[in-house]
Amino acid sequence: MSCCPDKKNKPFTEYSLVKATRSVIKHFTNSTYDAFVDEEVKKMRMEACNGCDQLREVFGLKNCKVCDCFVDAKSSLVEMDCEHPDGSKWRREK
Ligand code: SF4
Repeated sequence: MSCCPDKKNKPFTEYSLVKATRSVIKHFTNSTYDAFVDEEVKKMRMEACNGCDQLREVFGLKNCKVCDCFVDAKSSLVEMDCEHPDGSKWRREK
């Protein structure tokens, strides 16, 4: 396993981590009780992400190259959308 991103992946930067962390914190601070999807929806979203050509691994975590989100967290949140350039693979729930 290489320590550096391969040429197909965008380089992972500190900014990417800050951006991802801020988006999660913003979501949690603005959300109410029903911020999370149920297990069936999360499973469907993760199946799409696991088969997606935009998925990469960052620090051992599944990360989306399109939005820089950590998809285990992103797929749990109701208001998140997949932003795949060829068309969304899953949509927000509400
Ligand atoms: S583009 Fe969509 S399906 Fe692909 S990893 Fe990102 S969130 Fe998941």
